[in-house]
Amino acid sequence: MADSEGAQIIDGKAIAKSIRGTISQEVTTLKERYGKVPGLAVVIVGERKDSQTYVRMKRTACLEVGIKSFDVDLPSTATEEQILDQVLELNANDEIHGILVQLPLPKHVDEKKILMAISIEKDVDGFHPLNIGNLTMKGRDPLFCPCTPKGCIELLERSGVTIAGKRAVVVGRSNIVGMPVALMLNNLDATVTIVHSRTKEPESIIKEADILIAAAGQPLMVKGDWIKSGAAVIDVGTNAVDDPTKKSGYRLVGDVDYKEAKKVAGYITPVPGGVGPMTIAMLLQNTLDSAKPLDSGIREKIFQVADKAEAGR
Ligand code: NAP
Repeated sequence: MADSEGAQIIDGKAIAKSIRGTISQEVTTLKERYGKVPGLAVVIVGERKDSQTYVRMKRTACLEVGIKSFDVDLPSTATEEQILDQVLELNANDEIHGILVQLPLPKHVDEKKILMAISIEKDVDGFHPLNIGNLTMKGRDPLFCPCTPKGCIELLERSGVTIAGKRAVVVGRSNIVGMPVALMLNNLDATVTIVHSRTKEPESIIKEADILIAAAGQPLMVKGDWIKSGAAVIDVGTNAVDDPTKKSGYRLVGDVDYKEAKKVAGYITPVPGGVGPMTIAMLLQNTLDSAKPLDSGIREKIFQVADKAEAGR
């Protein structure tokens, strides 16, 4: 979609819809040819309203494309051991190809322990240290890439943005967005710089970016005049700011000053309607890939990992 003021608007909602359509067709083929139904277990612990909303969206999205959703709802009083037992049970269930534990977990639970317990072959969120580790190493492929970073790359590629040889700047270095997206861009041969909260003069670094991924969680931090003319701008930031004109009393804005930036950028994602819808689409894609049978590429990757683990013993 082109914009009268310059930048091409990357319509994440439309791209995600098209991806979900393809996934739905592939799920049907998998069912017909192999009698296999992809299954995703979505585990939620506690009653946080925002987590419940995200979980509901993920479960509904599964049903819409024909992925079977296994719902595991545990009370906020669940012990670490009970959650671990539950994850191990899901690991052993052949009907389940992906396991997602909604974060954050209650304070008394060690998130790292729970994420480590998820079988790497079912780690469709891509947060297992082995999957992240493989992302960092030359010649190794993770079985799954984290969903939001993978969504950012899809948006760039599907919009025809060249990544190889370009200067990319990622604002943010979190485990779930900033760091993995920087690693993925590096693996696609971009030259990547990470800007974080201690970076001095971020604007001068951001100004050099052909590709900018903003994932700092700082409303409207990146100003229009920080953007290089023609740059591709992917705004991951999703920040609620007060807005008395809205019934809810708030509206969502990104980390980038969209109004100004779209006059300068070559491509830009809106908030909402940019990266957000892609995250769930990528979760569905990872779950489908996990369910694919032995003769498809993803299983070859599993064997590569297993062989390397064996060789390293
Ligand atoms: P996070 O864990 O809070 O990490 C924020 C990162 O940004 C940190 O690395 C932090 O640096 C850096 N940062 C903070 N203030 C900064 C500043 N003024 N200048 C430069 N860097 C700064 O957040 P996250 O989970 O990665 O999420 C980031 C944003 O993306 C949030 O708005 C979140 O809501 C959104 N998000 C959207 C989706 C989606 O599906 N659309 C998914 C996930 C997240 P330090 O490391 O130095 O602290």
